[in-house]
Amino acid sequence: MIYLDYQATTPVAPEVGKAMLPWLEDKFANPHSPSRWGHEAAAAIEVARKQVEKAMDYKGGSVAFTGSATEALNWALKGTVEKAPKGRNRIITVATEHAAVLDTCEWLAGQGVDLTVLPVGPDGRLDLGLLERELDERVLLVAVMMVNNEIGVRQPLTAIAELAHKAEALVLSDAVQALGRVELCKGPDLVAVSAHKIHGPKGIGALWMRKGKEPAPLIHGGGQEMGLRSGTLSPMLCVGFGAAAKLAEQRCNRDFDHVQRLWKAAIHALGPGWIVNGSTDHRYLGNLNIRRESVDAARLIADLRDIAFSLGSACASGSGRPSHVLKALGLDYRAARSSIRLGFGRYTTQVEVVDACHRLAKAALEQEKLDA
Ligand code: PLP
Repeated sequence: MIYLDYQATTPVAPEVGKAMLPWLEDKFANPHSPSRWGHEAAAAIEVARKQVEKAMDYKGGSVAFTGSATEALNWALKGTVEKAPKGRNRIITVATEHAAVLDTCEWLAGQGVDLTVLPVGPDGRLDLGLLERELDERVLLVAVMMVNNEIGVRQPLTAIAELAHKAEALVLSDAVQALGRVELCKGPDLVAVSAHKIHGPKGIGALWMRKGKEPAPLIHGGGQEMGLRSGTLSPMLCVGFGAAAKLAEQRCNRDFDHVQRLWKAAIHALGPGWIVNGSTDHRYLGNLNIRRESVDAARLIADLRDIAFSLGSACASGSGRPSHVLKALGLDYRAARSSIRLGFGRYTTQVEVVDACHRLAKAALEQEKLDA
C-alpha cells in the first residue's frame, strides 16, 4: 500500500514506539500515586510535557495534556466562554475550521454565544480587513487554525492575533496540522495540538495556555492536570507524544525540505489537467488537494484501493456530505466531488509519490474516456 493520507494521521515513528513500549509492558504505575513507581511515571510525564512545550516554542505558558485535540479545542472554547468577562459574548471564527471548532462554536451559539463565522477568499485565506471590521469590544475569542487539514492553506495567524489583541480579545489556534510541519505562528493565547499528526500515538492531544488565560475546566474530577483537567494520564501516551515532539523539533527543517521535493515530484507526475484547491503560495506543501474537471473522486478511490488517499477531509469522507472547506472556497458540488487530497511526509518516498500520481493520472484519463 502507498500511504498518502498524512493529514488524517501519520505512521508512528520507530523511536516513538520504542519509547512507549516499557510504559505499556512493565511500568504500569499510576503517575498520580505517591509510590516510587508513581513518581517515576510522573517524572516521565513532566519530561514529555517539556518536550511538547519545546517543540511548540511558546513563551509564558504551559501545556496540559488532553485525550485529543478535539478535547483541547472543546475545552478552550467552552472554558473560555465560562470565564468570559461581562459584556464579552462574541466568538469569531472562520468557515474553513475543523469540525472540532465549528461544531463546538455552533453548540455555544445554541447556549447564547453571539457567533460570527467569517468567509474566506477563493484561495482559502481570511481577509484581515474583514476581521478588523468585525472586531469590537464584545469579542471574547477569535478562533483560527494555522494550517488547514483539507487544503493545507496557512492563515496569517500572527497578524490575526495582533488585530484580535488590539480589541482585547483572546486568540485560539488549532495547530494540529502545523506542529512539526511549519514554524508555529506567534501570538495566540491558546493552541491545540495532537500527537497522532506528528508520528505519535492516537488518543492524546494538548492545549498550550498562556499564563492567566487558562480556560475553566471542561472535565471535572481529580484535577490531575494542574487542577484544570481531570483523569489519570497515560504515561505511555504522554511519553510517546514527548518523543514525537522531540523528533518533530529536531527534524522539522529536514521534513519540510523533503515534503517540498515530494510536492514538485507529484505535480510533475500528475501532468496537466489538475487544479490545486486553495492558495499555492500560502500553503503547507505536504498537502496536495487537487481537482480535475469531470473526474469522480470516489471512483478514483475505488479504482486505486492500494493507494490510501482522501476525498477532501477524512472526517467528511464517506459521509456523502460535500466538504465545507471546498464549499467555502466557492467550489460547486461537482468540483468538490472531483477533488482528492494527497498527503505525504517524513516516511513517504519519491518513488511512492511518483508511482501513485502516475496511476492516478492514468485512472482519471480512463474515467474520461469511459464517460466520453
Ligand atoms: N484539527 C485539525 C485541523 C485536524 O486535522 C484534526 C484531526 O483530524 C483535529 C483538529 C482533531 O484532532 P484529534 O484527532 O486529536 O481529535
